[in-house]
Amino acid sequence: MEKVAQTRRQLMRRALALAGTSIAAAWVAPATVAAPSRRRGGFDPFALGVASGDPVSDGFVIWTRATLHGPVIDAPGEAVDVIWEVAEDPAMRRIVRAGVARALPQLGHAVHVELRGLPAGRPFWYRFRLPRGDASPTGKTWTAPLVGAPMDRFSFAFASCQHFEQGYFTPYDLMAADNPDIVIHLGDYIYESSWGDQVRRHEGPEPVTLDDYRNRHAIYKTDAALQHAHARSPWLVTWDDHEVDNDYQGLESEDYQEPEAFVKRRAAAYQAYYEHMPLRRIALPDPTGMQLYQRSQFGDLVQVTMIDNRQYRSPAACRTPERGGGQVVSVKACPELFEDSRTMLGKAQERWLNSSLSRTSSRWNIIGNGEMFSRLKQKAPNGDEGHWTDDWNGYPSARQRLIGTLARGRASNVVFVTGDIHSFWVNDVREDFARSDSRVVATELVASSISSAGVSYDQFAALLPENPHVKYFESRHRGYVMCRIDAKGMAVDLRTVDTVRAPVSGGKTLASFMIEAGRPGAQKA
Ligand code: FE
Ligand code: CA
Repeated sequence: MEKVAQTRRQLMRRALALAGTSIAAAWVAPATVAAPSRRRGGFDPFALGVASGDPVSDGFVIWTRATLHGPVIDAPGEAVDVIWEVAEDPAMRRIVRAGVARALPQLGHAVHVELRGLPAGRPFWYRFRLPRGDASPTGKTWTAPLVGAPMDRFSFAFASCQHFEQGYFTPYDLMAADNPDIVIHLGDYIYESSWGDQVRRHEGPEPVTLDDYRNRHAIYKTDAALQHAHARSPWLVTWDDHEVDNDYQGLESEDYQEPEAFVKRRAAAYQAYYEHMPLRRIALPDPTGMQLYQRSQFGDLVQVTMIDNRQYRSPAACRTPERGGGQVVSVKACPELFEDSRTMLGKAQERWLNSSLSRTSSRWNIIGNGEMFSRLKQKAPNGDEGHWTDDWNGYPSARQRLIGTLARGRASNVVFVTGDIHSFWVNDVREDFARSDSRVVATELVASSISSAGVSYDQFAALLPENPHVKYFESRHRGYVMCRIDAKGMAVDLRTVDTVRAPVSGGKTLASFMIEAGRPGAQKA
């Protein structure tokens, strides 16, 4: 098994090395014997839509999947040549780049074209075609301004947690009106399991194999609002747990799955994630893992650092034989929680993030972060002070190391944008959360879920008196957060929809905040 995977990886790397020499980074197929085609007439080969991502000052990634056999994989099929085009106008008349990408069955016929060499700070439109004539929808994207160049304004929306069964993704329709420059997704892009009230089904038990995960992603991509959001703006993405398995940590699964089996399951999930996201080649997974953390720079104004809180973290503290995932543990009964050796990011990523935050000269520094960073005091089952072990509260020494970096103050205007908890939060990140008079070193904004059911309002609202650094909490609405940066600061709108139980919904701004430049902590607007 390992040998086969190794060979496949070598082939892929060699193919990439070849492709890397041309500007149009088309996939080059390893030698395969094409099986006779058994195309079904009439099926839209671009039914999963298009996407762009990871904009840099001279390029971006454009993505699609050529699903000739239907979005649900029932046959590996042959390699497919996909024509791609990039134009300066929405009607695709002034084409500036074009090429042919070979969509490989080994990658689920995913197409990732990494464009470079384009002029900075410009909008572009793109689409894909098959030689036989079918065309994809047209997507819009843009190149970032030159690194360090003056930039006045930047806007982004951030979102997370879209359970397909628990709702239609109506917040993405509301997001269209906000017209964000980029969309940041913080994970739980798919869910592996089913629970709660359901308005539609994603079919099947928990995914385990590559085809299982591919099919789950494909079903999620059929949501029209999600497809439109991808086609409108470039995205920056990181994952959380449900892209693989609830509450998993590194190579530890929630249910203590056999390590050998879980290694394979995680690799399958990571590959399917890569296949469905507009990610650069650096993210191409191998059987041991996937390089997802990265940063993007927009002129002199904004640096966005996307971190990976799942792949490298230490096992959850004080796991019980019954439960390998998150739980609220007593701080007295679980000294393991505070051990210095516990890591959220892993050594290499932690070092990288530290050096990134120590060197940045960007005016705003956004950290795309999977789960709640700020301390949240809760009650343990035995009545003691308790902390939830699946977010940064389960890694307090790692959190304090990062706070130490922020307190040294080289990175200005640091804002954590966070997902996971299915509720809106606005938090002051304090140098010492135990002291309400300690310095605020950063701001944390947490988006509610796109469609996943919210956490209990009463249960969490009851925690607020013990957590004075929390300035706002609301779990009863689904939505996302819209941020607009200009010379004064960052205007923050918590955006919500009326319903996710129907495919169409109205929406509104629930609350607005302002983060003044040079003054960490959001103020009610
Ligand atoms: Fe979630
Ligand atoms: Ca989660």
